Amino acid sequence: MVSLNSLKAELKKQTDKSPEKFYPVKTLKENGFHRAHCASCGKYFWTTIESKLCGDPNCSGGYTFIGQEVAKKKMDFIQVWEEFSKTFKKLGYAPIKRYPVVARWRDDVYWNNASIYDFQPYVVNGEVEPPANPLVVPQPCVRFNDIDNVGITGRHYTSFIMIGQHAFYEKKKFNQEKYFEDILVWLEKGMGLKKEAIKFHEDQWGGGGNMGVCMEFFAHGLEIGNQVYMTYEVTESGKLRDLKLNVLDMGMGQERPAWLTHGTNTSYEANFPTVVKELYGQTGIRPDNDLVRRFLPYSGLLNFEEVGNLDKTWKEIADKLKVDVKKLRDEILKLSAIYSIGDHTRTLLFAISDGALPSNVGGQYNLRVLYRRIIDFIKKYGWALDLEGIIEMHAKYLKPQYPELRKNLEDIYKILRVEREKYDNTANKSRKIVQQLIERKEKISDDKLIELYDSQGITPELIEEEAKKINFQVKIPENFYARVAERHPEVQTKKEIVSKEINVSGLRESYPLYYENTKLFECKSKVLKVIGKYIILDKTIFYPTGGGQSNDIGTLNGIKVLNVEKIKGVILHEIENPRVFKVGQTVHGVIDSERRMHLAQNHDAAHILGGATRKILGEHIWQSGSQIDPDKGRLDITHYTNLTDIEKYEIEKLANKIVNGKHKILKKFTPRNEAEEKFGFTLYQGGAVPGKLIRVVNIQDFDAQACGGTHLDNTSETEGIRIIKTEKIQDGVIRLVFVAGKVLLEEKEFSEKELIKSTVIGLEKYGVKLEKVSLEDLGQTAKVFSVKAVDLSKTLERFFSEIRENSGRTEDLEKLLGLKGEKDDKQFIQSLNKTKDLGVIAKLIFEHWKAQRKQINELENRYTSKIVEDLFVKARPLGDYNIIIGHVGDFGLAIRAAAVATQKETSAIVIISSETKAICAVGKDAKLSAREVLNTLIPNAKISGDSGRAVADQKLSISEEEALTKLEKVLE
Ligand SMILES: [Zn+2]
Ligand SMILES: [Zn+2]
Repeated sequence: MVSLNSLKAELKKQTDKSPEKFYPVKTLKENGFHRAHCASCGKYFWTTIESKLCGDPNCSGGYTFIGQEVAKKKMDFIQVWEEFSKTFKKLGYAPIKRYPVVARWRDDVYWNNASIYDFQPYVVNGEVEPPANPLVVPQPCVRFNDIDNVGITGRHYTSFIMIGQHAFYEKKKFNQEKYFEDILVWLEKGMGLKKEAIKFHEDQWGGGGNMGVCMEFFAHGLEIGNQVYMTYEVTESGKLRDLKLNVLDMGMGQERPAWLTHGTNTSYEANFPTVVKELYGQTGIRPDNDLVRRFLPYSGLLNFEEVGNLDKTWKEIADKLKVDVKKLRDEILKLSAIYSIGDHTRTLLFAISDGALPSNVGGQYNLRVLYRRIIDFIKKYGWALDLEGIIEMHAKYLKPQYPELRKNLEDIYKILRVEREKYDNTANKSRKIVQQLIERKEKISDDKLIELYDSQGITPELIEEEAKKINFQVKIPENFYARVAERHPEVQTKKEIVSKEINVSGLRESYPLYYENTKLFECKSKVLKVIGKYIILDKTIFYPTGGGQSNDIGTLNGIKVLNVEKIKGVILHEIENPRVFKVGQTVHGVIDSERRMHLAQNHDAAHILGGATRKILGEHIWQSGSQIDPDKGRLDITHYTNLTDIEKYEIEKLANKIVNGKHKILKKFTPRNEAEEKFGFTLYQGGAVPGKLIRVVNIQDFDAQACGGTHLDNTSETEGIRIIKTEKIQDGVIRLVFVAGKVLLEEKEFSEKELIKSTVIGLEKYGVKLEKVSLEDLGQTAKVFSVKAVDLSKTLERFFSEIRENSGRTEDLEKLLGLKGEKDDKQFIQSLNKTKDLGVIAKLIFEHWKAQRKQINELENRYTSKIVEDLFVKARPLGDYNIIIGHVGDFGLAIRAAAVATQKETSAIVIISSETKAICAVGKDAKLSAREVLNTLIPNAKISGDSGRAVADQKLSISEEEALTKLEKVLE
């Protein structure tokens, strides 16, 4: 495989030699540009003035527009897109609406990184027509690899708007000179830059198997944008081949023109001016403008991706500015915290508005990192910031360009409040761990710091704070957050599970009849091939497992179809006896219609519940997974906390309103653009779907999703929906388990009735009579014992049998103590029958059981004291010891007695035999091993325990006198 870099180098050789074959040289020359060679970096560039250096800040000495007025007019952020779209509309481009920042239409990435992402893969590969051609788009993009640079360099962001200029044409119609000229119009007329200030770089571009050349454009040391002409395809042998469809991919950060024309110290001040001003106000920070301005030309040197030793770089910069390095660093870092908060809140606004949630899952983890970083800054500097107010201010400022951002503000606040709670909880838990860690005063490695953050949410700031208290230094790597983000891959690559033994190559895709008619239960098909136990048909009504829905089962010519799978479009029927089938034969297929209907009802219900949760809980709800089985369905949604009973009730209510509202369910293959235009990107609930045509399941006036499952024609056919349970299955994902359809609903009802019945009958066995019991009663009562409702009957039974045992035990103990010893549970049962309330009954049972245990304990203590008293009467002094040998029938009591006796008399050696076992305990002043004692007295027994207390598995069979004699020998 030839590397991309060597391909680029190869291409560069050609472009260096004959630029006219690759770049818009005609237009450049017509406009007075000539080609020059940079004395610093060696690249070719185009300029209208005599210049030995290209426009790159590294070559020509940084930014030269700060504090200057380099353009005829100042454009604020919003005006940039207004001007740009106006200019390009006149030039023949159609301005289109932005795509979401979460790239739902793709399964290879999570976040939208660039405007060209909007058109990958299907427009770029020519499969789907672009929404307009040529077009311009203001695409918000998020990138998290520069988190640590944000604020410091004055130009890095975690989200920015990439203004895209795109065209998709075959080679003949691809008009490079025009696209370039249009950019020149924008720079000169749109932005009002002087021609002399503009420089174009020749460069090469490659990615995703495609290549091309590009022109980067600079002014006053700032790169404004890059126009890429994607014209080649890289062949397997590493050669370049002309692409059928040439693609124009110009990207310009909307932030750049605003900054350049304002000449502010940092680009943040020009791009979210209201927010920066508010942040200055709320924190009371006034930037030291002079210091910042002097620092800024060097800020680029602190780019974390490019610098090895940051401490050294800070020092070098401070020396050059003749200021104290600590003062410089403190001042700059404090300001960068403010700008980071400005940037991060804007990213959170875009991302959460578009349906992402801060969590531990994949790409969304970055949002958690951003939010926690904000909180850490606030804590570190002791600021009292109104974050919600700041987010609202962003939304207000961005309203002319993105009015949709104001729609979900309340939800965003709610989500962030929950995120704050989660963070505070971890912080409290972590404090202890951190204290233990730093008390050891060992160096904490970078990896350990990252691991602590990642696995337990312990921030390096917290570690630093705790370390400071004991004057211990902890060093935090400056690219900390980028390294954390690296550990969380954005998307898990999904792989098709293909059974190795089945080779379907050469077979055409099977024709699925289930798309057209869900209620087609029988059909005639032709056998195309028999592979092992699998039959392949020309067309089929059997739905194969896929899209979260279980397969159909049924028969082919009366022989059972056990399973149905799909591999590369070929549907495989696993059959009980494949030998009777021959290629070319016509077969009669019948599916299990009842199963099919249950599957369809449950699948309809999944879509209805999806729509209902979004309406009740908010736009952040996305399907994160689903499984449709004939007996129940499962829908996993992205949500920050488990559902309350009220929310569950509201969702169920709305879902059944849709069922009863008789909404039509339309299923139609629709061109991708048309579907996205009409229904929006919420179509992709089940993930990205391939192809030019999308099957849209449209529940009229309610919900539309891309889906290949079997659905009914009207919501009323779903017959009713019931949520059986909800649970949090991972951070940010809630599972709803549900049933639909009369049969399943009745079954559910029936099983509930069964449950109630079994509980009532269980109680009747013990003489407790109940009248009406509801499912709610059962649930409440189960809580008394901390068990599930289904386990209540078992639990009650266990308590009743223990209560009986307890009564017996009490009776025995009372007899042993010479008390009256008559116990009977009649009175207790009578007290239960005084109420009809299951909850009260449960409490009475539990209380009675507790009282019994207490009484037994007291009686046992009393009886033990009595035994010990009796034993001490028989105590025999032997040397320094007091030997006590006795018999207690109950082994449990024997153990208690031995323990009490050795506590009372610390030089005692106590041997007590029960009916089956013997125990020996020695007091702490008796220097003899209990094991040794038992070994001596019962040589054949198995001994367990230790030197203080041991048990023999046999009773003492010699007399007390004999035992004493034996012990005397040992003690000598
Ligand atoms: Zn250069
Ligand atoms: Zn579906």
